Amino acid sequence: MEKLFTRAKTDVFVELEDRAQIANKAKADLFISIHCNAAGKPVLIKDAKTGKKRPKMYKNKKGKMVVVETTNPVPFGTETYVMGLKNEEGKMRVATRENSAILYEDNYEKKYGGFDPESLESYIIMSNYTSAYVIQSASLAMKIQEEYARKAGRIDKGVHRQSIWVLWRTSMPSILTEIGYLTNPLEETF
Ligand SMILES: [Zn+2]
Repeated sequence: MEKLFTRAKTDVFVELEDRAQIANKAKADLFISIHCNAAGKPVLIKDAKTGKKRPKMYKNKKGKMVVVETTNPVPFGTETYVMGLKNEEGKMRVATRENSAILYEDNYEKKYGGFDPESLESYIIMSNYTSAYVIQSASLAMKIQEEYARKAGRIDKGVHRQSIWVLWRTSMPSILTEIGYLTNPLEETF
């Protein structure tokens, strides 16, 4: 089996769209996105007015108020994602996080045709997703999860569907797998 890496020898950020196109141009049989997970939790501060604890907030570049987070050592386990529609409020956590890598790219508004990874409405463009490879992708994802538990003694947190850009844009069976949490000391060591 021939393997092609999107980051061959250097650890330089490759734009999400380019990751998909590298696989498409090579007419790859399979696309595997290998990730390390991370968990956060809100930083709590004492509110000056009420005296009660509340999450610390800051205004991001786009002027949106977001919660300041610190690392959370508790969450652990492996999960694998296949492209799928679960674009209801509250079920977009993973898709939003994964696709938000786009925000680090220069010129992302133009490159992604106005797609905003943090806005639920943006995901409408993915809603006509049909793929000949859904069954193959899901079957591989399930096998990988089984092997994590059986061979590597990892915790299996299952196969899930999410609207992830690189899975949407690849024209072959494709999966994204989270091999464990770097924020969990035991999994980081492993
Ligand atoms: Zn990830």
